[in-house]
Amino acid sequence: MTEVQTNVIEGESLTSVEEHLADILATIRPLAPTELGVGDAYGLVLAEDVTASSPLPSFDNSAMDGYAVRVEDVAAAAQDIPVTLPVVAEVAAGDTGAYALPAGTSIRIMTGAMLPHGTEAVVPVEWTDGGQARVAIRAKVDFGASVRLTGGDAKAGEVLVTKGTRLRPMHIAVIAAAGRGTVLVRPRPRVVVLSTGSELAEPGTPIIPGRIWDSNSFMIAAAAREAGCLAYRQAIVPDRPEQVLPAIEDQLARADLMITTGGVSMGGEYDVVKAALRQLGTIEFRKVAMQPGMPQGFGTVALPASVTVDGKTRGGLLSRLADRGEVAETSVRAGEHDRVPIFTLPGNPVSAYVSFQIFVRPALGALQAYDGLGLETIRAELTGPLRSPPSRRSFLRGVLDRPAGRVAPLTGQGSHQVATLGKANALIIVPEGALTMAAGETADVLVLP
Ligand code: AMP
Ligand code: MG
Repeated sequence: MTEVQTNVIEGESLTSVEEHLADILATIRPLAPTELGVGDAYGLVLAEDVTASSPLPSFDNSAMDGYAVRVEDVAAAAQDIPVTLPVVAEVAAGDTGAYALPAGTSIRIMTGAMLPHGTEAVVPVEWTDGGQARVAIRAKVDFGASVRLTGGDAKAGEVLVTKGTRLRPMHIAVIAAAGRGTVLVRPRPRVVVLSTGSELAEPGTPIIPGRIWDSNSFMIAAAAREAGCLAYRQAIVPDRPEQVLPAIEDQLARADLMITTGGVSMGGEYDVVKAALRQLGTIEFRKVAMQPGMPQGFGTVALPASVTVDGKTRGGLLSRLADRGEVAETSVRAGEHDRVPIFTLPGNPVSAYVSFQIFVRPALGALQAYDGLGLETIRAELTGPLRSPPSRRSFLRGVLDRPAGRVAPLTGQGSHQVATLGKANALIIVPEGALTMAAGETADVLVLP
């Protein structure tokens, strides 16, 4: 339906992409932070500044396997004239003993071992004969050579990883190196994805003419995972008005955000999602000035009154499952399920995909108090012409050659053309004011994640 609406909507008021997104972000509240073991924090968004409680490293230590010396004692050493010193001790990494280096001697020392008191430098073993009782040293060293000083990496109190960082392996390393066993992070948002449509069949099952395989729910679940979420894909909901709301309500207990696809186009009696959710009064259906993805619905849904958290009355599915032991009490995050944000995306796969990237991804970022989920925008030269409907911003599939700074529009820009979507790595933006763009013009391009 969405494809042919261009003329019909002319003159009607459309909501801009920015306004729709702003309304969404104004509704979303970040999930309450939770303390997790550093081994489980990878990929999550940090909800505190992690600081060094002590300096890094916390003691002076050797940067090399070699010999701890005083600079003056090896000042005369050279390749042809070695200086020989007695080796009075050996210190390995992890040795917590207190050693002192008498003048005129050396101590054999390993990488990471604590420096003996009085050490001025470490001579790498490669510059010596590796002796055990006595060592011949064939180079002089400067004060502080091959020594890692206390606090040389970070000072006590220094911020090591800032709040709002999505934790990658290097951040995990820093947090562990700073001795933190646990960190405060945002939990992964739990996203429930439902596709609607009586024409839909499960991939892997035989199909008959008139039916299509459901691709949206799998695509959106994958996109939600890509955005750092846990995604639960639900069974297909047929176009039966009485089934839509129960299907949504059944899932609310485990959703931090819900996404439906299909059933929201411009008014047919088969627009069951719109019909079912409109009666709640908490979801707004709009025409957004974009192509694809004009029909958008967003709002919140609440658990039915009989199913409240916080140990009050619990009827319906949640309590039934809890009574049967299928839902642990702790899996219910107290107070969080009062209202669950819900997106009702259009059914055409490309519309659903574009809508997800433009609106849902930033919302999933907001749930994690993370501002890094917006798509990167770059400028690139078009290798071919483009057309766009009036008053709407087009997001057209293209193949971006980043090093060359060029983007090639794909042929087959229909919203149902999922095969073209599979070839794209970018969305080319044609602004609201433009009806065409020519080859050689420079366009804004969204880089797809
Ligand atoms: P609707 O928004 O329900 O009117 O659907 C618009 C178009 O998208 C129709 O051609 C549907 O068959 C198609 N469609 C809807 N849902 C899906 C889905 N889950 N997977 C693939 N195509 C879909
Ligand atoms: Mg439908």
